[in-house]
Amino acid sequence: MISGDSIVALSSGRLPAGVAVIRISGPHSRFVIETVAGSMVENRVATYRKFRTPDGSVLDSGLVVLFAGPNSFTGEDIAEFHVHGGRAVVAKMLETLAGFDGVRHAEPGEFTRRAFLNGKVDLVETEALADLVNAETEAQRRFAVQNAEGVQSELYLGWRRRLIHARAMIEAEIDFADEDDVPGSVAEMVWSDVWAMIDEIERHVRGFRAAEIIRDGFEVVILGAPNAGKSSLFNALARREAAIVTEEPGTTRDLLEVVLDLEGMRIRVTDTAGLREKPGRIEAIGIERARSKAGTADLLLVLEDMAEPIAAGALPAGVPSLRVGTKVDLLQGKPRASLLGTPYDAVISTRDGTGLAELLAEIGHRAAAQIGQVGDILPSRLRHVELLNETKRFLLAAVTGNERGQELRAEELRLAADRLGRIVGAVNVEDMFDVIFAQFCIGK
Ligand code: GDP
Repeated sequence: MISGDSIVALSSGRLPAGVAVIRISGPHSRFVIETVAGSMVENRVATYRKFRTPDGSVLDSGLVVLFAGPNSFTGEDIAEFHVHGGRAVVAKMLETLAGFDGVRHAEPGEFTRRAFLNGKVDLVETEALADLVNAETEAQRRFAVQNAEGVQSELYLGWRRRLIHARAMIEAEIDFADEDDVPGSVAEMVWSDVWAMIDEIERHVRGFRAAEIIRDGFEVVILGAPNAGKSSLFNALARREAAIVTEEPGTTRDLLEVVLDLEGMRIRVTDTAGLREKPGRIEAIGIERARSKAGTADLLLVLEDMAEPIAAGALPAGVPSLRVGTKVDLLQGKPRASLLGTPYDAVISTRDGTGLAELLAEIGHRAAAQIGQVGDILPSRLRHVELLNETKRFLLAAVTGNERGQELRAEELRLAADRLGRIVGAVNVEDMFDVIFAQFCIGK
């Protein structure tokens, strides 16, 4: 599919910058190069030119590259102009290029949308490209790059091929049901493969939590009685400048959050220092928030002042926790070795820094265990999980529907394969376009 109009956008980052890349995709790309750069350039050869407006005044000079379709990102002719990254230069270039008949400014994600429509990327790869552009940590980058290369799509397409094969076998059996020489074991093999696939899908869907942790972060919540040292630990973690990604705005007076990049993983640490024994109304809201946050955390750090231990109170059920003894510097005279037998998983002092590196390492270790192995194939969107669950429902209906007849069961296999097709965009996906492509910035 080739669009009638051409689109233009700044495809590189924030201005001012050393170089800015402006990209045009569509049938007018060649004419724009001829006009702005003076004459056509060789395909895929970066060529230094002076750029001019159609009336001849010089805009800038820089590199121009033609990527002739269909061997381009979008599948259409693409022209890339590498200009000086000043705001005025870029504004004038964009104004000039969008001023050509048939050329207009691109919508967010429109380059990728064209790539999809021209069969250059599938939907899962499209989503992975959005993730790659947004990746902040090494784990996010690794995960996105693997999916952008089609690893996740290949898993779904592989299942889909197996189902299409299974359905063909079942339909063959229906057609030849009267003949004696069709071995009944074919159907048995098909259904046992479908059972195996249900199992594989279930295991794959369970990996979604790991994908969420990679994307949104591993949630660590600091709990403990008043004065246990929660704020001090939170501040000590936040002060490790190298570790901070962002100090998120919008934190409440009760719940402070900091996002760390720990060994390439995104770790969100929440302080619940607002907890008091006799809270005012606002604090009560904070406490409620802290409780619900703790209930959904991936790891709780339960702090206890070792000099004056006060139990932290009831912990939410089922959430892994580390019991952290604080203020170890106050335990003067006690040889450190005697602490080895303490009930604490970690022993720290924010005053002299004891144990902080070990505590961070342990948090990193826990997060890594949740994320799983590098290279694990995980569903990266809720959209995938929902369609996989539908696939599973149809498969279960098919394998357990013995009394309903082979035709209906074959139809359920078809519906299951259709749902897998929807994940990668092989079938019926127009209704999802706006949601998916809106994840992109303009110029991608
Ligand atoms: P929170 O109420 O749990 O947030 O506790 P804070 O972090 O505010 O600490 C309570 C008090 O303990 C403060 O006076 C801190 O200075 C002190 N404190 C916190 N951590 C340490 C530590 O590692 N060593 C010592 N000696 N004092 C600490």
